Formats: sequence, C-alpha cells, structure tokens
Amino acid sequence: MLSTMQDVPLLISRILAHGSTIHGTSQVITWTGEGEPQRRSFAEIGARAAQLAHALREDLGVRDDHRVATLAWNNAEHVEAYFAIPSMGAVLHTLNLRLPAEQLAWIVNHAADRVVIVNGSLLPLLAPLLPHLKSVEHIVVTGPGDRSALDGAGVPVHEYEELIAGKPDTYDWPELDERTAAAMCYTSGTTGDPKGVVYSHRSIYLHSMQVNMAESMGLTDQDTSLVVVPQFHVNAWGLPHATFMTGVNMLMPDRFLQPAPLAEMIAAERPTHAAAVPTIWQGLLAELTARPRDVSSLTQVTIGGSACPPSLMRAFDALGMRVCHAWGMTETSPLGTVARPPAHAIGTDEEFAYRVTQGRFPAGVEARLTGPGGERLPWDGESAGELEVRGAWIAGAYYNGPDTESLRPADKFSEDGWLKTGDVGTISPDGYLTLTDRAKDVIKSGGEWISSVELENALMSHPEVAEAAVVAVPDDKWGERPLATVVLREGSTADFASLRAFLADEGKIAKWQLPERWTIIESVPKTSVGKFDKKVLRRQYAAGDLDVTRL
Ligand code: AMP
Repeated sequence: MLSTMQDVPLLISRILAHGSTIHGTSQVITWTGEGEPQRRSFAEIGARAAQLAHALREDLGVRDDHRVATLAWNNAEHVEAYFAIPSMGAVLHTLNLRLPAEQLAWIVNHAADRVVIVNGSLLPLLAPLLPHLKSVEHIVVTGPGDRSALDGAGVPVHEYEELIAGKPDTYDWPELDERTAAAMCYTSGTTGDPKGVVYSHRSIYLHSMQVNMAESMGLTDQDTSLVVVPQFHVNAWGLPHATFMTGVNMLMPDRFLQPAPLAEMIAAERPTHAAAVPTIWQGLLAELTARPRDVSSLTQVTIGGSACPPSLMRAFDALGMRVCHAWGMTETSPLGTVARPPAHAIGTDEEFAYRVTQGRFPAGVEARLTGPGGERLPWDGESAGELEVRGAWIAGAYYNGPDTESLRPADKFSEDGWLKTGDVGTISPDGYLTLTDRAKDVIKSGGEWISSVELENALMSHPEVAEAAVVAVPDDKWGERPLATVVLREGSTADFASLRAFLADEGKIAKWQLPERWTIIESVPKTSVGKFDKKVLRRQYAAGDLDVTRL
C-alpha cells in the first residue's frame, strides 16, 4: 500500500525560497578588511541568485547539468552561486583554492567545468591555468583585485555585477527530480588522483536538517555563525544551506583568515557560533593569549576536520567558548558524528570524556566496525576497527571514473554498498565514536597498533609544545615505530628526555608505545584544508632530511 502523503521533491530552490522570504531580513555579512563589512540580507541574496541564474542561462548558455565552478573565498557572492546554480538545475563545483595548480587543472578538466566564477584576488592563481583548462568557456570575476592577469585569457571574461545587472530578480526554478546532482566536491586526495563526490538536492536538504538539529549545531535566527571553514571544503560543512532554513546570520571572513582579523571580526560582529578545523583555533588561541579581545559572544565552536586535541578544548573552555567536536568527510556531506554528551553525563566527571570523542551518530547515519579480517566488531568501546557508514547523505560512488572499478573502488566501498571511511576507531555501547587513527597512519609495532593521534594529543597537552605530529617509520626489530616531530613554543627549554618522561607520567602512554625517535621541526606541514600532512613528514624522514635523535 502506498502512503497518502504528498511527494514534494526536496530541492535547494525550496531552501532558497524559504530563507529569502521567511528569513528575508537575516544577513550575510562579509568582512572587507577595512571599514564597514558588506551586509546583504537573505532577501537580497535570493533576488541576486535569480539574476545570476538568468545571466548564466541567457548570456552564458548554461543549461542541463552543466558544471559551474567557483574559485572563491567565503562571501556573499559565493552564497548566491551556491543557490543559483543548483536551483536552475546545473551543478555547482567548488574548487579548493589551496590545491597545487596542476591538481586544480586536473579537477576542472575531470569535472568538465564550463564556467568559472572567480574572486578578483584569486586571478593570479587562475590565469596561468587557463591554457590547460579544456572545457572552460567563460570566466566571471567578482570583488576587488587587478583584472590584468586575465589579459589575453582566450575565453570571454565577464564582470559579475555587470552580468547580473538589470536581470529579473525572480526565476521560475524548475521542478527537478530530488536525486539530481546539485553540487560536487573533490576529496583532498592525499593519495592517488582526487575523487569527485556528487551531492544531490535530496542529500543536501536532509543533511541541512540534521545540521540544524539541537543535537548537531542547533542554531536559530538569534545566532550569527562565523563560517571559517571554506565553502570549498565540503560545502562549508553544510552551513550555507542549513542557515537558509533557519535564518541564522552568516559572518563570512572572505580572504581574511589570519588569527588577527578573525579575532577582530569576532569582537566587532559578535558571532555566537563558529566552525573551523583545529589549526585555525590553535592560531586564534595564540592570538587571543597575546592580545586579548572581547570574544564573549562566541559560546559555541564546532571543531572537526581532524581530531581536536583535548588541551585545545580546555583552553577554549577557559575563555568561555564551548567547543563541540564533530567528525565527517567529503564523502559524508560531511556531518557524521557530533560529540554532545548524553544527559546523564552533564555536570559529571564523565562529561569531558564524552566531549573529546568524535561524537555520536545521528539517526540518519548507520555505522559498523570492521576488523582486519573483514569481521564485524562489537560496540564495546574497546575493539578497534575500520569505520563503515551508510545513509542518505553518504556517498555511494565517485564521479565519472574511467570504469566501474574506479567509481566504486573496493578500498572505499564494501560489496554491500557501505562507505569504508579509512578511519580506525572504537564505538561505545551508547554509540560514541573514538577515532584512534587513519588506517594509513596507524603505527604497527610488533603486531600491535599504536595510535599516532593519542601520542600527539598527549604531547600537545605539554605546556611547552605548540604542535606535534607522530608518524610511523620503518624499524628492523618491530616493523614500525613512532617518530615524534615536535614544534616547541618560543623560549621553551624542554628536551626530548623530559618530553618522553611527560608522556610516561601517570601512565598517560604505555611504556612500549613511547617513541624513541624524536625531532624538532619549525611547523607541522599542512594539507590544503589545514590538516597535518603526515606523508610529507614520512617522505622527509625517508630522505634523511630530519635531524632525528634516538633516546
Ligand atoms: P576530508 O574529506 O578532507 O574532510 O577528510 C576527512 C577525514 O578527516 C576523515 O576521514 C578523518 O580522517 C578526518 N577527520 C575529520 N574530522 C575528524 C575528527 N573530528 N577527528 C579525527 N579525524 C577527523
């Protein structure tokens, strides 16, 4: 028997219509670096998104599932593109502006992007790539920045504001199938070629509702969210879509992502929420310690993208900012878990222990752990295995590989269709995930596993350690052993023996897991989205470029 309910497709145009009317006075505030920030209401964003869609269709010939790429910071025009492109039926492709040029060109060609909307300040990055971009037919430039880099570009160049000026401010958005492609994002690809994940209208709609739940971010129109996580990093964790559902104001940092301007915009615009990877918060913490500002408005901070060191969480707690840890990946839209402690733990000693886990799975995400031999592991908080997930906003394949094998590689998807995350960890009986490592980062020492993340967190809780990364290095006797690479705070006199003693102290780390190889580095190499880039450290070690002391 079929239900008697209406079948209304879950479309991004519906999120836009809702946000720009019911929450028409909410704002996207873009930092400009000097003077007043740019303020644009959701109603204006809605009107301009319609104008952009007219311009793309009528002037640039975008139709069907044409890909329109953005190479842009977080700002109001980028939000307009977020809504206009999928709503008209085309596919938004957000490009990661921190990727090496070669990879960027590969990705544009793989996705066959026809139009690139680019911020003026990023033209020096785009211009040299143009001769290699086979599919690009139009460039649209927004915001400040010298245009001369595009002289002789070989393709038509348009000014965003001129292109949309005078276009109708409403659009008859098509009634699409909700499973149609809406947006795509390539994984940051630490190994092999980057892989494209294609989100549907339906997956984005359902994911946005989850982001808005009280057990996730739970924001309302009384909130302002400082969206530091880039719009090219898994759709800024879904915030632009989720905020249009609930009227949350968005504070966009544009290109001003350094700790000092971030601290200034928090003091000036008083956001209540912020979202970013741990490295951003490490930088902000140092800035606020050196030059305190009034950051009292910011009571909720979502940290994810890599493990949040407990020491960082405590430091922000002390400043009155409550950190909420979350886990996800490009393939999971990204919301996979959120670490809100259960009711019985609130106010007890257990509360912090829950907050430092990666968090609990929401109703829309099913999880299981798989052991090295493919066996299912229990949720006992002890058995560690690879995390596999399934759900309506989880990828089931990659985009347009040359063959089926590459669309659904066996190391990424199980035979029965679950996503293999490559993350190793445990799940407690009440559904809290604790990640101990990436499968490829775990240290396999004499048949036992050592968690590099656990060693890093313990090291980073030392008051004189600014950052630390631990990687597996080959060892004749044990197969692999940990190498500790440490960044000391200015003026620190700590030596390796004292750091090792600190790790051993109070049984923090089991004796057999203590690293015997140590090195001081200036900073931990980072990937394009600000995560520790351990393959660079492994390479440096293999090439003999690190000055390693053996204890
Ligand atoms: P990306 O697709 O670039 O967002 O990378 C996803 C990967 O980041 C995950 O598979 C994890 O390895 C890592 N990651 C994300 N969030 C966390 C977290 N809270 N703790 C530990 N690792 C994380």
